[in-house]
Amino acid sequence: MNAGPRAQPRRREMAAAASGAGRCRISKVGVGRRPSPARVRVAVRLRPFVDGTAGANDSSCVRGLDSCSLEIANWRNHQETLRYQFDAFYGERSSQQDIYAGSVQPILKHLLEGQNASVLAYGPTGAGKTHTMLGSPEQPGVIPRALMDLLQLTREEGAEGRPWCLSVTMSYLEIYQEKVLDLLDPASGDLVIREDCRGNILIPGLMQKPITSFADFERHFLPASRNRTVGATRLNQRSSRSHAVLLVKVDQRERVAPFRQREGKLYLIDLAGSEDNRRTGNKGLRLKESGAINASLFVLGKVVDALNQGLPRVPYRDSKLTRLLQDSLGGSAHSILIANIAPERRFYLDTVSALNFAARSKEVINQPFTNESLQPHALAPIKLSQKELLGPSETKRARGHEEEELGSPESPAAPASADQKLSPLQKLSSMDPAMLERLLSLERLLGSQGSQGTPLLNTPRRERMVLMKTVEEKDLEIERLKMKQKELEAKVLAQEAADPKEKENCSPTMLRPLARRTVTVAKPLKKAVVMPLQLIQEQAASPNAEIHILKKRGRKRKLESLDASEQSEENAEDCWELQISPELLARGRQKILDLLNEGSARDLCSLQRIGKKKAQLIVGWRELHGPFSQVEDLERVQGISGKQLQSFVKANILGLLGLAAGQRSSPS
Ligand code: ADP
Ligand code: MG
Repeated sequence: MNAGPRAQPRRREMAAAASGAGRCRISKVGVGRRPSPARVRVAVRLRPFVDGTAGANDSSCVRGLDSCSLEIANWRNHQETLRYQFDAFYGERSSQQDIYAGSVQPILKHLLEGQNASVLAYGPTGAGKTHTMLGSPEQPGVIPRALMDLLQLTREEGAEGRPWCLSVTMSYLEIYQEKVLDLLDPASGDLVIREDCRGNILIPGLMQKPITSFADFERHFLPASRNRTVGATRLNQRSSRSHAVLLVKVDQRERVAPFRQREGKLYLIDLAGSEDNRRTGNKGLRLKESGAINASLFVLGKVVDALNQGLPRVPYRDSKLTRLLQDSLGGSAHSILIANIAPERRFYLDTVSALNFAARSKEVINQPFTNESLQPHALAPIKLSQKELLGPSETKRARGHEEEELGSPESPAAPASADQKLSPLQKLSSMDPAMLERLLSLERLLGSQGSQGTPLLNTPRRERMVLMKTVEEKDLEIERLKMKQKELEAKVLAQEAADPKEKENCSPTMLRPLARRTVTVAKPLKKAVVMPLQLIQEQAASPNAEIHILKKRGRKRKLESLDASEQSEENAEDCWELQISPELLARGRQKILDLLNEGSARDLCSLQRIGKKKAQLIVGWRELHGPFSQVEDLERVQGISGKQLQSFVKANILGLLGLAAGQRSSPS
């Protein structure tokens, strides 16, 4: 018979979701990471008979079947056995190294990913929990082996040149009669267990010792263990009646951008004996202890059941132990439960009870995630802009706190100096300091939640630099355009000063420089005044002198560049149409006709668009056909088309009439 309950997958999900830590898990998922479910792993270790207790009357009631399963006699029916299957089964001959390498070592790597891990030794008193967790100098257990490996791992991963800087701290506590006692600082008394806004379980005031080597660890751990042993001697087996919790924290800080930080917690727990104290006949203090132990382990059983059944409320808070294990059971940790059992018949009921608990535990689903956020100094430059807002006294007051954050030995100095160039972000300095502080808190929260939403302030450094570069370029361009505008304004003012009348003839819009380099605009209206030379003199006397205006054809042109004004003036020639009074036109045509009929070839060459060859052709035609009766007769001359005639008349009429170009507005 397989005694392990079979929970439905949906029930497991509900169970995980129902856990307190589960509710908060999203808030701690690293950017882009989704929590992947991890079932609580369960291993069973059967210890050998100790001190030659095996005899004819005390044969083993448990037998291993393979590396994952075992069977135990069914006390209700001696013909049957109860069979259990777990993730691993370690028999009497298994070594400390087998347990460690098979079930504990594989989860250590998660600590370096910023995830939590827990190892719990469960079972009745005398079944080998302490042996498994602590062992002896000859046979070191899980704790010394894990510490040795973890310190080695952190040394390698945190070595110079690696992206992360790692540090390890240890705390060691005991839960005895529902009191949390600091074994590294026994005078501290009962400590409280709290949960922060991100669902992290923490114990304020708990001593944390930094450790860099195994010798460091031993220096703190051995006296602390003696604190416990002294108690055990005085109180007779107190150590079996308390839960011993070794907490090892691995803190990681990224040395390069984006300067993330991660924290992985490892709980190594030697639980109090799970035997049924009602059967022991305890009285007095022992009964009180039993009650406390029963309460903790009873609640632990209820927590496991609630998780398995997907109950809406998981009673973590009903005992100190379960409150502490909140993120190890149905929470954020990679957890391994090692159920220790003994072969002796006198342990039979406690062994069955332990195996049933272990079987229920293996159905619990955890949701491990990376506990990651940005290091405080990564946001410090923005705080600096806030500091700019403060007066000198406030700045001085604020500096203490900032230096504390920036002065961490692991904090590289580079980001602060580089980020001081964040001119666009410094616009935040115009923000209310209280609002800015709130934004920063929100930013930290979102960062730790791995929010996919709009980042507020923690634009990744690379994107931020690109953004800043673009803004800088834009600033430079604006500056350059402003300079150009000033130059143009100065030029126009100088022209106005030199000739104030011109102002009247010029459209004010022509003086205004354009804000952008490339823009489509209508060409401004140009005026050209053309008048005969004698009229110029007459105009001086008479304000009603006749003028002739060049009218715009109404063509639009794209303005290429402000510097192209010279060229645009030349091109503008095509845009204008000459209008001359009919009287002047008739006079001009007559003059041309006279020259055509009377002029020599040389005279004709003086005309516009008439070369030597054409002049000879005209003279030849005249000799052959007689005088030209009108200018249009030129069309008959070989090589002169009607179109050419038009431009010929236009080109020559002014010169022959003695006309001169008068005032002409200067283009912009
Ligand atoms: P618990 O902590 O569960 O009360 P202990 O670890 O103190 O139990 O073990 C009780 C006794 O059994 C100790 O003397 C211990 O050395 C011994 N023992 C436990 N497990 C083993 C094992 N696997 N091999 C040899 N001796 C063991
Ligand atoms: Mg023990």
